[in-house]
Amino acid sequence: MAGDLLLPGNIYDYLRRHSLREPPILERLRRETAAHPRARMQITPEHGQFLALLVRLMGAQRALEIGVFTGYSSLAAALAMGPGGKIVACDISEEYTAVARRYWQEAGVDSMIDLRIAPALDTLRALQARGENNFDFVFIDADKTNYLNYYESALGLLRPGGLIMVDNVLWSGRVADEREQDEDTMALREFNDKLHRDPRIDLSMIPLGDGVTLARKR
Ligand code: SAM
Ligand code: CA
Repeated sequence: MAGDLLLPGNIYDYLRRHSLREPPILERLRRETAAHPRARMQITPEHGQFLALLVRLMGAQRALEIGVFTGYSSLAAALAMGPGGKIVACDISEEYTAVARRYWQEAGVDSMIDLRIAPALDTLRALQARGENNFDFVFIDADKTNYLNYYESALGLLRPGGLIMVDNVLWSGRVADEREQDEDTMALREFNDKLHRDPRIDLSMIPLGDGVTLARKR
């Protein structure tokens, strides 16, 4: 299994062996995605399990996903929501999401997922223009330089008490290394700083996977 960025390998193996309960269809999707050159973009299975737990805790029935890739996180969310749930899923790649569609169909959740192939900001603006404001859950996991834009839109689209989950906030530790000055790292640093000071949310940053932030809209 792929290692975790933030945990020593032996502890990570222990964590997986003693907690992972991955549904077989998610395991198959993960194994197929592992052969993809961009496989590292997929969330880890324990991250998927945590996402599913939060969705269930909240009783979320309306979710928004920004960054689908081969569909692991959206499938985990859909399975956790059950048949009444709806997910608006944003990506720009027909190629990556073709794999996602295949697995959603096989899992019987494809009618729950409204896949929008367009720059996510366009999709978010279209939702805002329709006055949408009752999403329960938003997962941000696309281009890092737009994270603040996605976050601002997501706050507008969520109901009070709704949750934003954000992936890659520790960026393999690069956010904490001042020598790293590339665009993505700088964008993530600015993002983390803004959320730290934002009074509109309750906040937690968790060393899960590549770093995950939870922001609950007050
Ligand atoms: N959440 C996915 C999972 O669990 O496997 C991983 C998402 S991957 C890290 C990021 C995705 O964002 C890619 O599929 C990419 O095509 C998409 N993406 C990049 N820029 C985008 C944009 N401007 N709008 C929408 N999607 C974008
Ligand atoms: Ca990610």
